[in-house]
Amino acid sequence: MKTFYDIHMHVLNLSHPNLSSYLFQEGLIDRLIDGNINVLTRLGLVGAALFLPNRLLKKIVNRKLTSGHPSPKDVVGNCLSFFEIPTEYQLLVLEHFLKSGQPNNFNAQKHLEINGTTYDKILLCPLVIDFGYKNIENSVFYNLTPKRPVINQVSDLLHAIHIYYRFHLDVNEQQKKMKLLPMTSDYNARKHEKLFEIYPFMGIDTRNYHFTDIKRFLNNYFGNFSDTESGKARRERLFEKMGMLNGSMYRKNIDAADIFAGIKLYPQLGFDPYPDDARSLKKVQYLYRFCVERRIPIITHCSNSGFKVGDYNAFTHPEKWAKVLEQYPDLTLNFAHFGAESKSNQRQWRNHIIDLTRQYKNVYTDISCNNMTPEYYKELADLLQPKANKKINVANPELYKRVLYGSDFSINLLASKTNSYNEYLKCFADAGLPHANDLCEYNPERFLFGE
Ligand SMILES: [Zn+2]
Repeated sequence: MKTFYDIHMHVLNLSHPNLSSYLFQEGLIDRLIDGNINVLTRLGLVGAALFLPNRLLKKIVNRKLTSGHPSPKDVVGNCLSFFEIPTEYQLLVLEHFLKSGQPNNFNAQKHLEINGTTYDKILLCPLVIDFGYKNIENSVFYNLTPKRPVINQVSDLLHAIHIYYRFHLDVNEQQKKMKLLPMTSDYNARKHEKLFEIYPFMGIDTRNYHFTDIKRFLNNYFGNFSDTESGKARRERLFEKMGMLNGSMYRKNIDAADIFAGIKLYPQLGFDPYPDDARSLKKVQYLYRFCVERRIPIITHCSNSGFKVGDYNAFTHPEKWAKVLEQYPDLTLNFAHFGAESKSNQRQWRNHIIDLTRQYKNVYTDISCNNMTPEYYKELADLLQPKANKKINVANPELYKRVLYGSDFSINLLASKTNSYNEYLKCFADAGLPHANDLCEYNPERFLFGE
């Protein structure tokens, strides 16, 4: 059986991010007034959600479906349309369009086909982002910025997985309507029949917790992890629990073990991977040691854009992580987005990551959210075959063992030139990368479950 891995995606709706904090990040409002179109596009998502009546939104989405050339408004409409789908439907909707939408990457036997290789399963890692940061000062009248406790997002995500394994999506193509139909027989035994296996990552920002809470939190979620269990055993242990919780995380005595496969960190929200003050440092040190001892994989957001609430590029930069890796050289760490730097051709972050992959055996990087053009893949192909291209001077001849396929769906609908998972996947298939199967199967399998 072959599995296609997407190591980086999200199951999010508009209630999860703390949007007002995003708006009030330093300078964003000023840039909006200056008419910066890129910011406008992004703000359109927020504005449209808050102010546009539903009917108008549907019109925008419809126009998107009928015109060949998406305008920024269409991109926002499409993205918003997906974000507005209740989270419990999102996985089923994604599967429905993958199987029946265009472009289609499934063969006549209804299996995913990439580069001539057929995959029976698609493994998704939805990443939880801990948006529960402190309020940001602003001068508006209703200046009580809401906190967004991460527990809501976790509940919604677990509920979505629970529903995915218990229902089919019944789609009426003519009326463009859908409803959930319960599966008839024992769903737990029939989990294997489903296309997706879902291994979420828990988001944590150590600033939001006391030291003792972090200890308890890690024990509750990851207490059964050990660095001696085989990759196969770990996958089976997590698969067993998959979809079992119905998502109501507020009840007491919830058995939270084996729900999450790893941990997601997001320095662009102000999380410092290696803080100076002793109290904060003690917390992250505990986290890293715990992860090393039990071989728990960490994904850290690594690009100079994304969901930002201030200028935290210094925390996000791979250089900051060099300090962490010096202390914890065995840490299993994925730098997301291959250190993408928007508005720069220098590739400094990326080259720094390549250096780290050479120095540390468990350092990985994913290509989520920036791989939607043939040019991107051409450059990546050169990096994966440094000998063939003499111009590449920052080389790791074994880099092809450290790069992971990721989509960043559904965020990629907003950030990218693609308007569906189908299209995004097709771009990867068409690239005909050397080592494509390493990127979408062997490497993520090793990263996620171990050898
Ligand atoms: Zn992401």
